[in-house]
Amino acid sequence: MAAIGSLVFCTDCGNLLDGSSGDEKAILRCDVCGTENRDISSSAITTRSKPTSFPSALRSKLSAVQTLTEDDVQKDAVIRQTCPNCGSKEMRYYTQQLRSADEGTTVFYSCDCGHRFSINN
Ligand SMILES: [Zn+2]
Ligand SMILES: [Zn+2]
Repeated sequence: MAAIGSLVFCTDCGNLLDGSSGDEKAILRCDVCGTENRDISSSAITTRSKPTSFPSALRSKLSAVQTLTEDDVQKDAVIRQTCPNCGSKEMRYYTQQLRSADEGTTVFYSCDCGHRFSINN
């Protein structure tokens, strides 16, 4: 009974099925949708996803970010932030990722009075 404690999910709806019997040939019927699922908990090979699928998705996401034009950059948002110069209760702000990801994000605040400053997260 090596598979005790492992979880098996319905391949159709994702419902958690009753405990694994540890027998690959056993059929686990889903209470929700009635789909008959093979007890695959003891043969993890069948659940392994393609190793290339995630990195390529990440790459295309990164290239999409890099092809953003000036017009695509989000408009300044308004935040409750008191301007140290004129005391206004609201300031516009936007964030910018500088250099590599582990450099953190810089938040730029700007006020109608012309005062602006930035904070590094
Ligand atoms: Zn199901
Ligand atoms: Zn101000």
